[in-house]
Amino acid sequence: MPDTMKLHVLDCGAMSCDLTWLLLKPGRSIRTRQDKDKPVEWYPCTTHCVLVETPDGTILWDTSCPRDWETRWEPTGLQDFFPYDQVSDDQYLDAVLGRLGVAPESIKYVVMSHLHFDHAGNLKMFADAGAKLICNRKEKDFALGFDGLFTGAHLKSDYDGLDFETVSGDTEFMPGITLIEAPGHTPGTMAMKVDLPDTGTMIFTSDAVYMGDSYGPPAVPAAIVNDLNDFYSSVEKIRGIAEESDATVIFGHDAKQLATLRTAPDGYYS
Ligand SMILES: [Zn+2]
Repeated sequence: MPDTMKLHVLDCGAMSCDLTWLLLKPGRSIRTRQDKDKPVEWYPCTTHCVLVETPDGTILWDTSCPRDWETRWEPTGLQDFFPYDQVSDDQYLDAVLGRLGVAPESIKYVVMSHLHFDHAGNLKMFADAGAKLICNRKEKDFALGFDGLFTGAHLKSDYDGLDFETVSGDTEFMPGITLIEAPGHTPGTMAMKVDLPDTGTMIFTSDAVYMGDSYGPPAVPAAIVNDLNDFYSSVEKIRGIAEESDATVIFGHDAKQLATLRTAPDGYYS
């Protein structure tokens, strides 16, 4: 066990999608009549996880997309809207962890920002290896509370039968690691704030804020929002916490930003 924290950003490649899913922005993804004949803008919807080594055990934040996305997501129809097709063999989550020398068995907690299929895609791998699974209580209630196999990007086969420990409100999960309730994208979306000794504070927004262009100000919503008022409140809540703690804010699916980060196994934050 390390005596201080070490944080690794795991770059798991990208899905491809029409930018309008992520950014309902007039003049950008939403076209004027002058631009109506332009082709739609497709975007590399990057996906990352975060591994934090702490004196109290290793935490994995989110689990990205599964290798068998095309068949797994087929019932939802969304595999054609969000194909996970910009990923090299060494970018699948298990491969990134392998390059870092981390076995699933060595991960003590898997903390889920929310349970959409591009975040929960490898959850069962870690559950099988004995990790404790954490999510927001409202996320669990929602994700297991609907009828049928899926709704939107919640796909029950990713998480049914698993035991979750749930948290509510803003929760200091460990010294220096706080889970921030940030609903809107889904009923129980969370962000994670990590206070690092050298780097300072980093906030991982997951899908509470898709990308820098969503953050604004003013905040720009996406096509997939469970509750628009909650979405706006959560973005402003994160902005307030970020300003107070002078944090670096890392967005959920920002290709440009991800390219500027130190990523595993080449670099880390301490
Ligand atoms: Zn999501």
